[in-house]
Formats: sequence, C-alpha cells, structure tokens
Amino acid sequence: MTDSNRPRASWDEYFMSIAQVVATRSTCPRKYVGSLLVRDRTILSTGYNGSIRGMPHCSDVGHMMEDNHCVATIHAEANAVIQAAKNGVIIDGATNYVTASPCWSCFKMLANSGVKRICYGEFYRDERIFEVATKTGIELLHVPLPGIALPALPSP
Ligand SMILES: [Zn+2]
Ligand SMILES: [Zn+2]
Repeated sequence: MTDSNRPRASWDEYFMSIAQVVATRSTCPRKYVGSLLVRDRTILSTGYNGSIRGMPHCSDVGHMMEDNHCVATIHAEANAVIQAAKNGVIIDGATNYVTASPCWSCFKMLANSGVKRICYGEFYRDERIFEVATKTGIELLHVPLPGIALPALPSP
C-alpha cells in the first residue's frame, strides 16, 4: 500500500500542529494557547499559558480577573521566551508559532527578543500588532489551525 498521494504538511502546518498540542497543557480554561520558537526548522522552546510556577492552576482555583481578563497566567509566547532564557538558548531571528495571535504585551516582548516572523493560528484581540509588525519588519502570518481536537472548554 502506498501513501504517495497523502498531502504532506508544510513546515508552517507542521509547527502549528505542534503548537496546538502544546496548547493542550494550558491551565487557564479561558483560553488554551500554545507557542513554539523555531529556527532552521528546529524547535528552540515551547510554552503554554499557565500560572506562576508553584501557584495553583486557574482550572483548580478559578481566575484572577482584571478588566475582564485573567491575569493569573503567563502567556504562551512569554513562557516560550522564558524557557529559552532559562536554558540559555538564543532566539534572535526565530519564528514564533502561536495558536492565538499575540496580545499587545506579548507582541512587544517578541519584537524586542529578535523574533522576525510570527505565525498565528487564529486572531485573538489586538489589531495594533499588524501595523507595528509592518513598521518593524516582522512578518505576521495567519496559518490556520490544522484542526487537532483539543479538550472541550469548561464554562469559565
Ligand atoms: Zn485564568
Ligand atoms: Zn500575551
């Protein structure tokens, strides 16, 4: 039996699929997000949105709400940058894959960490990133989520 007609995933689809798997580790049920930093087709680090290390998960104790957003968690993109920093991994020039487009804070952090390309699975909420990406020479690309089944979201 041959498999030669199987459509082969592009690199962007491949890494976005992995970001979706990373998202399944998220602990804030308001939004499951996964992120990867990649260079030369190699994963440098991963991150998902979750609480401060050693603090309880939103999924266990509820959220810390502020202006209608949960501020208990560190976002997926931030955790990927943090993981690289903890391990001494250079991320300059990397691509960030993230299942939901970066919030304004994460976008600023990615821009200053030297990330040159951001692939997001779905638009999240901040339109400012498009204009600033253009101005700063960051390629911001929509890569539709490949459709891996994620755990059902409990009601917030
Ligand atoms: Zn939360
Ligand atoms: Zn963020």
